[in-house]
Amino acid sequence: MSQEYKTHLSLEVFPPKKDEEFNNVYQLLRDLNRLNPDFISCTYGAGGSRAGKTIEISSFIQKELKTSAVAHITCVGFTKEDLEKNCDALKNAGVTHVLALRGDRPQSMTDEQFNQREFYYATDLVQYLKEHTDLCIFGACYPEKHFESPNMEEDLRHLKEKVDAGVSSLISQMFFDNNYFYRFLDKAKSMGINVPIHAGIMPITTAKQLGTTVSLSGSSVPKELADIIAAYGENKDDMRKAGIDYAVRQIRDLREHGVDGIHIYSMNKVKTTTEICSML
Ligand code: FAD
Repeated sequence: MSQEYKTHLSLEVFPPKKDEEFNNVYQLLRDLNRLNPDFISCTYGAGGSRAGKTIEISSFIQKELKTSAVAHITCVGFTKEDLEKNCDALKNAGVTHVLALRGDRPQSMTDEQFNQREFYYATDLVQYLKEHTDLCIFGACYPEKHFESPNMEEDLRHLKEKVDAGVSSLISQMFFDNNYFYRFLDKAKSMGINVPIHAGIMPITTAKQLGTTVSLSGSSVPKELADIIAAYGENKDDMRKAGIDYAVRQIRDLREHGVDGIHIYSMNKVKTTTEICSML
């Protein structure tokens, strides 16, 4: 655990889309690693052509940077056979932690193809990994409920099943209003969910980014953040400053509330992530 943070700090990166960008990723990881994260997780682009790169990046984090790597894997795009191969590759790469996810339907996939996946829910993937590997398994959770779930109670019931199947830590979907997270923690605790829960923080540095982020995550936007966009959205530098300041205040408040961990969706942005961490 890092010395500077009482609360754990983790960062999320993604495999770049183009080969030329991929060459820069190692320097980017070295720079992010200077922030002493407790772990760095790497996303998996279900159905995407860059999917195989998740292991490569995770291996670099684990072996070269000597920081715990958490490789994301999804039900979507994985048959049992693929999963076995993936687990072997993870083992050879020295990666011992995974974030087991269901994944969403990629644009290239029909509903029919999506619904035919061998592992249906993340819990099915967790069960399989628990039985067949000695990987340490993380899972995802949603402080404002998952968008497909009819209500929070049902979502939490399934979350409990996922944890009971073998999840040892949870990472939350991004949220911009800490009150949702605190309410979620109380409810999760009352359901007997006792594993560490890392709070997902997405720094918003442009007005456009907020639009994309909200449509993907379904997270609600508090008035304070909407006001920031209204006031600074047109001015690149001011917007960036205000967005960083908002994320810092969110994190400070979470740490004061003694949360288990802060998981920054770094989006491979070294400068922004570094600025946030140095202000903490
Ligand atoms: P699940 O836990 O399977 O839940 C999905 C839905 O099914 C929920 O509504 C749940 O309540 C419901 N459910 C669960 N079990 C049952 C059951 N038995 N019966 C009925 N309903 C049930 N996606 C990617 O493609 N790649 C990534 O790298 C990636 N990284 C992510 C990282 C984090 C931290 C988070 C929060 C999300 C990430 N995602 C990623 C997105 C994720 O794949 C989607 O949010 C997806 O829609 C749900 O995944 P899950 O693992 O939470 O699903």
